[in-house]
Amino acid sequence: MIHNVRRLLFAPPYLYPFPTDMPASPLDILALAAHRDDVEQTCGGTLLKMAQLGHRTGILDLTQGEMGTRGNAKDRAREAEDAAKILCTSWRQALDIPDGRVENTWENRLKVVRVLRQQRPRVVILPYWKGRHPDHYTASVLGYEACFLAGLAKLDVGVDLNVAAGDSPAIVIPNVERASPSPRAGRPQDIRQDAGATGLLPHRPFKIIYATLYYDVRPTFVVDITEQFEARFQALMAYKSQFSDQEAGKGIFPARDEIRSRIESMARFYGMLGGITYAEPFIQKEVGLVEDLTLIPVKSI
Ligand SMILES: [Zn+2]
Repeated sequence: MIHNVRRLLFAPPYLYPFPTDMPASPLDILALAAHRDDVEQTCGGTLLKMAQLGHRTGILDLTQGEMGTRGNAKDRAREAEDAAKILCTSWRQALDIPDGRVENTWENRLKVVRVLRQQRPRVVILPYWKGRHPDHYTASVLGYEACFLAGLAKLDVGVDLNVAAGDSPAIVIPNVERASPSPRAGRPQDIRQDAGATGLLPHRPFKIIYATLYYDVRPTFVVDITEQFEARFQALMAYKSQFSDQEAGKGIFPARDEIRSRIESMARFYGMLGGITYAEPFIQKEVGLVEDLTLIPVKSI
């Protein structure tokens, strides 16, 4: 599976700082999370699947991981790049919000608004709004409120497309080969050039969904990641400073085999709910809309 994933990237799969004076396509899907490796754990398989379907995906990490028991922010940045490549993500950035102190402040909301207006995603994946780690549930509310604010026409967040001084530079993974061009490509309202010419134009995502894997709650839908499961596990294992067996934090971090077993159990559980092998769980606040009753998936009896 990992071999197939690598084939999706043209060689050399190098990364370069985001060129602020060049127009770029909007993202189809942006996953936002508090910490580097959260997205890999909660919706990495889904992001990879969406990239394989031809969508342009991105990851916004609110923090840089400086409080982690293992490794440092620099290690995490390198590992996050490696994971992004495995997931065929087109864009990834970490903001400068302090690790362990994600707060839903006006300043932090504006940081996320700037990213939303720059990247203009149609779908945003947020963490679920309840959880054990305060950074996780705070990131959910912060992300939701930023999605709302980003659409306010009179909210001016400036014209500067450059990242803030403390943010890690955005990375773009060029030339990701996709199954077909995204259906959104070329829509006049989505052209980044327009935004660049007149400042960061208002943008509100069409859809917000919540990745619920960190919390014991029944999902409203699951995404089949049977084909992406191995690559998603490899993306998580790219965080070598966190997940390779080592002495530091031995009492807190489970061994690699145990991690694999837990991740597989969770994916299997949600897969079982959907009648398939492996899945990732999500909640949408809206009701499901059905056109043809005979095409509703998941067997009842
Ligand atoms: Zn986390």
